Amino acid sequence: MKLNFCSLSSGSNGNCYYLGNEFHGILIDAGISATSIRKFLKNMDISMQTIMGVLITHNHIDHIRGLELLTRKNNLPAFTTHKIWKSILTPQKKISPDCIRKIPLKQKFHLAGFDIEAFPVCHDAPETIGFHICTGDKTITIATDLGHICQTAAPYFKAANLLVLESNYDEQMLVNGKYPHYLKARIKSDHGHLGNHQTSAFLADIINDNLSNICLAHLSKNNNTPEIVLQTLQQTFSERGIILNGRQRITILNRNMPTSMIRLIE
Ligand SMILES: [Zn+2]
Ligand SMILES: [Zn+2]
Repeated sequence: MKLNFCSLSSGSNGNCYYLGNEFHGILIDAGISATSIRKFLKNMDISMQTIMGVLITHNHIDHIRGLELLTRKNNLPAFTTHKIWKSILTPQKKISPDCIRKIPLKQKFHLAGFDIEAFPVCHDAPETIGFHICTGDKTITIATDLGHICQTAAPYFKAANLLVLESNYDEQMLVNGKYPHYLKARIKSDHGHLGNHQTSAFLADIINDNLSNICLAHLSKNNNTPEIVLQTLQQTFSERGIILNGRQRITILNRNMPTSMIRLIE
């Protein structure tokens, strides 16, 4: 059995992630154009025919930009909660009823060989969810937009072998940056985004030998850099006396380009 993960794009410019086995794949969010999604997958030798559906985390444009075309042209089913569908389906966003799949919170459903469970996270959209995905003995948890990690979400992260978690902004860069006060307050709030120190401290709390891959996601263009993200995490781990076990990998997901494929099972 094979199990591969990669990010096609991660950040406020657009989010789209791929998870697949040797037969099928799924996408998480369609926040870049459908053309870019098809092109990136083709470059990785992944046929669109093998994609069985797209999971949607919330209604912000950086997560649904390509959704309409992707569902229409590829007849791809899209999965999210009733509340999120309500917030997506505006008169401007026409999605074929055939492609709309409503999923409950905290109840497993099966798609393309994966057991998938949606769980709520705190973010300033009508509803935002993360996904906890199991296949064989591997578990992947992904949450890219959240202001803080609430008690209901934490167990999903703790149980992951591969964790995709937001590390949106450097606290100092945000404070000293050019954003207006209201926007800084929104980003920092419990319903905004996670800062590097928040994410690093949480990872230091939960790191264990089963967590083999940490992917840091949704970096801000103006208030963060990949170098600072890594530096903050390394510093936090060193202060806490945490030493990686040699098999654990940390990947900073690129904002505009696909990152190389992570092979969880070869
Ligand atoms: Zn976002
Ligand atoms: Zn968002």
